[in-house]
Amino acid sequence: MGCGCTDCEAMMQPSLDGMLSDEEVAEAHDHLERCPPCDRRYRFEERLRHFVRVAADEPMPLSLREKLDGLRATHPAA
Ligand SMILES: [Zn+2]
Repeated sequence: MGCGCTDCEAMMQPSLDGMLSDEEVAEAHDHLERCPPCDRRYRFEERLRHFVRVAADEPMPLSLREKLDGLRATHPAA
């Protein structure tokens, strides 16, 4: 849709992974400014990655896990 940016597609993942040079990053951001569909997609991917990273860094607290186990124990599946 829209811009049909295959270049965009190619740079998006490496950009999100921080694999691009400063120059390439500047180019990518320049494109995103002129290309709302890619900009939206980029922001979405960025949020998604942030969420995944946070979720991976913060495993379920033990206290919460124990609470869940407790709930399961007091309410066994019929
Ligand atoms: Zn684009």
